[in-house]
Amino acid sequence: MKVTEHINQSKKTLFSFEILPPLRGREIKDIFSILDPLIEFNPPFIDVTYHREEFIYVEKENGLLQRKTISRRPGTVGICSAIMNKYGIDAVPHLICGGFNKKMTENALIDLNFLGIDNVLILRGDPLKYENDFFAKKNGHKYAVELVHQVQNLNMGKYLDNTLEQKKSTLFNFCIGIAGYPEKHLESPNMERDLFFLKKKVEAGANYIVTQMFFDNKKYFTFVKKCRLKGIFVPIIPGIKPISSKKQLKSLPTRFYLNIPNQLVKKIEKAKNKKMVSQIGIEWAIQQSKELKDAGVKIIHYYTMDKPENIYQIVQAIY
Ligand code: FAD
Repeated sequence: MKVTEHINQSKKTLFSFEILPPLRGREIKDIFSILDPLIEFNPPFIDVTYHREEFIYVEKENGLLQRKTISRRPGTVGICSAIMNKYGIDAVPHLICGGFNKKMTENALIDLNFLGIDNVLILRGDPLKYENDFFAKKNGHKYAVELVHQVQNLNMGKYLDNTLEQKKSTLFNFCIGIAGYPEKHLESPNMERDLFFLKKKVEAGANYIVTQMFFDNKKYFTFVKKCRLKGIFVPIIPGIKPISSKKQLKSLPTRFYLNIPNQLVKKIEKAKNKKMVSQIGIEWAIQQSKELKDAGVKIIHYYTMDKPENIYQIVQAIY
């Protein structure tokens, strides 16, 4: 079932989860042990992130550096299929521009279609570690909007190579999700410009938006209001992540360009150990979730970061 159908049919707030594929060498049961406790909350769908190949530099015996390609967290599509098989729940794979050319993307979408997956979250992906800007693969996409266009073209039966056979092929029917940023995307010069490009993704065919994490619900409510004023009317699913370590007070704003309210910062700074930090993060996220639920938000999406314990406590408190 499509994410938008879940939203339209829901009479009360639903709770969805995002997981990461495990590190290379781990097993599918690692994923099941993350999801097993969360299934109790009847998630309408589970998102599985996509992680592009990275480059690392290894020193050779002669002292020269050799560039190696590694893929730390492969398996997004297989995990989606395993989730659907085991739990009978819709899985939403993330599909990114980074590292893909258009042909690879088309083949990936054909795989998803054969597996009965009818939702995709379309993203550009971040620049590589050693690059200060995002570079598209040759014949790939530079911005998520271009990838949305490609999926939408396939939804209309338009393949890259429109040979006779392909013209006769059945249409795809992907429900397309995209990312939105209540505190603006870090590369964007201002919110106005970010919303301009967000609207382009919706005009290209995106059906719903999932937000970057935020710690102040006002940011989300204002963002939704601004989107509506700009003519963006698709559902906007809020993304919530509980803080779980002191380090995140610095790493989250640096990585995701977001603000952490002072009240929360002060509480975490005062915490004597990791357990206390974690408890503060859980309580904060419960308050956020309660307010979103009371405001009639149809789905709240949780970034599990493959640590289900905190998320379990949060959803249990409001389920
Ligand atoms: P875009 O929509 O392409 O926007 C990127 C930037 O370019 C923005 O600043 C935008 O304003 C600007 N822009 C857009 N179009 C144009 C244009 N035509 N001209 C000029 N500027 C333009 N990353 C992963 O690698 N894997 C994942 O699984 C993943 N999952 C995510 C899930 C969510 C819910 C979110 C919020 C993010 C996720 N990310 C993931 C991170 C995401 O890839 C990064 O935030 C990335 O930097 C931007 O992706 P985007 O799809 O928003 O890009």
